[in-house]
Amino acid sequence: MSCGFQFVNRTFVSTMSNAFQQLMKSSRKTAEKSPPSKRTKVDVAKEVSSNKSTSRKHFWKSGLTHAMNDSENIVESTDSLVIIKDKYPKANFHYLIMPKAVQLNSPQKLTNLNLHLLKDMQQKAQMLINDLHPKAKFKIGFHAKPSIDHLHLHVISTDFVSTCMKTKKHWNSFNTEHFLNLSDLITELEEKGNLDDYYPNDKDIELYLKKPLRCNQCPFEAKTMPSLKTHLDTHANSSP
Ligand code: AMP
Ligand code: ZN
Repeated sequence: MSCGFQFVNRTFVSTMSNAFQQLMKSSRKTAEKSPPSKRTKVDVAKEVSSNKSTSRKHFWKSGLTHAMNDSENIVESTDSLVIIKDKYPKANFHYLIMPKAVQLNSPQKLTNLNLHLLKDMQQKAQMLINDLHPKAKFKIGFHAKPSIDHLHLHVISTDFVSTCMKTKKHWNSFNTEHFLNLSDLITELEEKGNLDDYYPNDKDIELYLKKPLRCNQCPFEAKTMPSLKTHLDTHANSSP
């Protein structure tokens, strides 16, 4: 009996001990695999920096909405439009015209219902140029993929001489098909009613922004932005 009992007891103890060891092994493995329940200092620092960059992005994106309500920036304001100077001008003269009421961020979804507004913006742009810079040449249009919220029309002199004109992306955003001329856009809306066939897709836009650096005033192709900028200075200095 005792032997039997002892045998049963020893088997029971040994089984229990094996089970306990297995349990400990598997819980150690689980602990190794799963992340610590407490966030480390590095995790917290990463979260803070990611939150900071998200809020910086948000701050940048909403910059124009703030700027158009700040009287210091406003060149002119009508019932429906606000004109401000671009804070980081990419040419000698660079303005932005924004509708007060339209809730669009990009020109992509403009339709013939917006034609009246667009013609109003076009007229304002032309008056601004005639009044303030009658001798300069200008481009008037939208970026196909704007970086900032609130629909804004660029009215920019074609010298493109500015310390803020720094990168290939800056240059190509104004000097390739990424720049949508307002008059072409109005024609498309008058003929088709929307911009579905006309609008470049994201892949095309990426290619436009990577195009070689071609001068907008002669056939010169620059290898770098500094050499393009030196070249643009020669055009600016030789123009009457
Ligand atoms: P994009 O969204 O690429 O069509 O261009 C946005 C334009 O807004 C750029 O030309 C910037 O230099 C300009 N910009 C950015 N922030 C401000 C601001 N706070 N006030 C005025 N212009 C701004
Ligand atoms: Zn040139």
